[in-house]
Amino acid sequence: MHDWQALIRKRDFPMIENAQCRGKTVVYLDNAATTQASRPVIWTMENYYMRQHANVHRGVYCMSEEATAAMEETRQLVAEFIGAASPDEVVFTSGTTQSINFLAEAFAASVLKPGDLVLATEMEHNSNLLPWLSACSRSGAELALVPVTADGELDLEELGRLLEKKPKLLAVCAVSNVLGTVNPLREIAEMAHAAGAAVAVDAAQAMRHGLPGVCSLGCDFLSFSAHKIMGPTGSGILYGKREWLERLAPPHTGGGMVSSMQWPEINYEDIPLKFEAGTPNLAGIAGFGAAIEYIQALGRERISEYEVSLIKYAEKRLSGIPGIQILGSPAQRFGALSFTVPPLQAYDVALMLSAEGFALRSGRHCANLLHEKMGVSASVRLSPAFYNTKNEIELLAAALERLLAAAKKAGVPVGGVKNG
Ligand code: PMP
Repeated sequence: MHDWQALIRKRDFPMIENAQCRGKTVVYLDNAATTQASRPVIWTMENYYMRQHANVHRGVYCMSEEATAAMEETRQLVAEFIGAASPDEVVFTSGTTQSINFLAEAFAASVLKPGDLVLATEMEHNSNLLPWLSACSRSGAELALVPVTADGELDLEELGRLLEKKPKLLAVCAVSNVLGTVNPLREIAEMAHAAGAAVAVDAAQAMRHGLPGVCSLGCDFLSFSAHKIMGPTGSGILYGKREWLERLAPPHTGGGMVSSMQWPEINYEDIPLKFEAGTPNLAGIAGFGAAIEYIQALGRERISEYEVSLIKYAEKRLSGIPGIQILGSPAQRFGALSFTVPPLQAYDVALMLSAEGFALRSGRHCANLLHEKMGVSASVRLSPAFYNTKNEIELLAAALERLLAAAKKAGVPVGGVKNG
């Protein structure tokens, strides 16, 4: 274990260091689902409720002004974190799912016409698929999918062919939440823009990886959730290029986004407030800011380098265990690795590992299409973060070896071998 890691586990993530479940030490390896909040995030949220809690953009009294300033500070932090040209391009949401639904609804209302085309990919989380399906069915547009290769990469040749049909938008993840595939976003964005398509990036799994800034990446929209970067749940953002946000009508309306009204004529606030109807999740936004500061202080390069080394180690170690089949073999993996242990059910494997203290996800991880494409009905997913260690991966590998040996002894033909 690195010195910095021993320190942060003890000081900032007591849950990682000390959690026990049914008498076993918990090894938390489900970070693609959610990461543990760091202590500074928890303190910041507590401090918000203890000292600052008041509604924003409305009151002229001190607490409201402070709450407004704190929220706008976080907006500035997010803008710097993602490399946006201005904080006005950052809209607070409840998370990636809401951001994408918001965008898809706005596209359906303001951009898409019958006969238009939208592209998504077979690799997408349902949160980056179903909102587009619904937007297309509402507007009469068509949704087509960029295929995934057997290795678990996007088929860029096929993307090129689909782009010839001049889609209005390409929705694509930066990193797959199942395979960990890191998509070549710059190349993809260049291809899409050359064909006149806007690019909307689902960056839910990519923000610890140190994605290039949105300006240099050239994407038009980007969404992510605070809880994937050691922040709170219920807080996230939608980034949109200024020209786009100014053009799109707000899909949600209500208080806080009206600048003037001469009934029934309504003028909205400028961006980003025109997209933030209602009272925002202020404590969540405060915690979001603390999460960004925490990640920045640790350094995204260091985090990314270390997490890549962990996933590489896991891939090497698990692929050496006869009976384990790892899904895909993308050139670059980050954050997640999924596998099956046929003929055992993924659910049963995760349950048996859970009895030994391992917190892993089983199922389709909200990526039904991708599982179908990879020819499996479900998988077990291991998703480490920077507070995990090689030793924890080693403990998991040893537990899997024990599980396989027990299954063989019981006559289950794991690894194609009976009574091995
Ligand atoms: N997209 C991807 C790639 C994800 O991994 C997730 C979370 N599992 C989401 C979208 C949805 O994020 P949230 O649940 O925070 O809205």
